Amino acid sequence: MYDSIVVGAGPAGTIAASKLANAGARVLVLERHALPRYKACAGAVSGRAASFLTTDFSSVVEDTIHRVKVCWANSNAAPVEYTSKMPIAYLVMRSRFDELLTNTAVCAGATIHDGERVQAISIEPWGVQVQTTHSTYKAATVIGADGATGVVARQTDLYVPQSSGVALEIEAPVSPQQLAKWQNTVLISYGAPRHGYAWVFPKSEHVSIGTGTFSPRHRDIVKDFSAFTDSLEITWQRQDLKAHPIPLGGRDREFCRPRLLLVGDAAGLADPLSGEGIAHAVHSGKLAADSVLAALATGDFSMDNYQAIIEKEINSDLRMAKQLSSTFYALPKVFFHLFKTNQQMLRWYFELVQGHRNYQDVWDLVKRLLAPQALLNRHQSEPLN
Ligand SMILES: Cc1cc2nc3c(=O)[nH]c(=O)nc-3n(C[C@H](O)[C@H](O)[C@H](O)COP(=O)(O)OP(=O)(O)OC[C@H]3O[C@@H](n4cnc5c(N)ncnc54)[C@H](O)[C@@H]3O)c2cc1C
Repeated sequence: MYDSIVVGAGPAGTIAASKLANAGARVLVLERHALPRYKACAGAVSGRAASFLTTDFSSVVEDTIHRVKVCWANSNAAPVEYTSKMPIAYLVMRSRFDELLTNTAVCAGATIHDGERVQAISIEPWGVQVQTTHSTYKAATVIGADGATGVVARQTDLYVPQSSGVALEIEAPVSPQQLAKWQNTVLISYGAPRHGYAWVFPKSEHVSIGTGTFSPRHRDIVKDFSAFTDSLEITWQRQDLKAHPIPLGGRDREFCRPRLLLVGDAAGLADPLSGEGIAHAVHSGKLAADSVLAALATGDFSMDNYQAIIEKEINSDLRMAKQLSSTFYALPKVFFHLFKTNQQMLRWYFELVQGHRNYQDVWDLVKRLLAPQALLNRHQSEPLN
């Protein structure tokens, strides 16, 4: 009998497992893939995400980002640039990053079974039973860290259908000269797809190129992706393309049941403005571990506190991000114009990614800049083009 079974060895699960094991809990992590495994992800660990991590992950950082170039899709206009002395994000390959976090959990005392898929969960008055492709395990609690398509939420009636955007990417080989051009720099292109953006993120030997749309309604993004890669003179094969849902946060939903907690993508905690999910995966993993430790200490396995904590610490911010996202992607050209003409807007937007600003700051600024008189003044002095 374990104190907790963690389903999934992504950032949310491994961080929860480390925290539990460090506190002396008996933890089993079940991961369906053999590790290390590929995960479709641009691998940007934002400054905000890094602030939640206590593990030193410098050994797996492929590039450190100090400059963002922001452009408008299919236009030759010079991009707008934001540069920062403080890192904006650290770029990793998720296979190596997640393996490092898994090893950290194992060093703390967690047991990991990889290549073992969870098939069924049953919650009983005495505890939880987890059935896998290999065996059946018992625990006092279970943490569903099994990502956007996970079985834990589905089997416990916590899954929220049609709440996901989607993102896809390729890992594109480029010449050393091209790679050198991208060093310390990412490119973000707004305007296509609708309700999203495309990106180029450099790694140590190739670039990750992708696109995401953060609305459950807009899914046909392959055409936009082709236009983007054509503009970069990058060729790819259909089989290189890896796609995955982005479960958008900021909604009314339940995150727990007695003895069971959802974290990260399984809990639908991706940012509806940027699609970023690692920061909230790590943060929720830590909060879930705290709730399990409290339950083990008190014998109260209702997990009632977890709903309120996730709402307060994460989802309330994501509600604001959702509001910002709706406005931003309804008027992407207006926002691009603001990025070009208003240094504060550009800076604050990326300071949000760095974790130096919160959504409220940016939302207040947006409201100020989009007030009718401010818009009129701006339009008269700098017409949109
Ligand atoms: C194309 C793309 C690009 C992205 N880029 C970024 C980015 O640059 N920065 C960022 O912050 N976020 C990014 N995201 C989002 C980010 O990848 C996720 O938010 C993050 O991986 C969530 O972590 P997690 O631990 O909750 O879930 P995951 O990382 O998805 O981990 C879940 C784990 O559970 C395992 N699992 C699933 N089912 C079972 C089962 N039945 N039994 C056992 N194990 C199971 C999976 O194999 C997986 O290892 C991107 C997403 C996509 C699709």
